[in-house]
Amino acid sequence: MKVFKCADLGFKCDWIAKAKNENELLKLIKEHAKKCHDLNEISKEIAEKVKSAIITQ
Ligand SMILES: [Zn+2]
Repeated sequence: MKVFKCADLGFKCDWIAKAKNENELLKLIKEHAKKCHDLNEISKEIAEKVKSAIITQ
């Protein structure tokens, strides 16, 4: 299971995403980022941060 906590990106946000692989998880993260943080595009910098924040459980 791949797990991502939005707060790890520095947002004041308690959203946590879980998915069975990284691609699924990135999809969820993109949707959430758009809906809740007005991030229509995930920049390279953010993508790097997201990837380093993903943990495997
Ligand atoms: Zn969030």
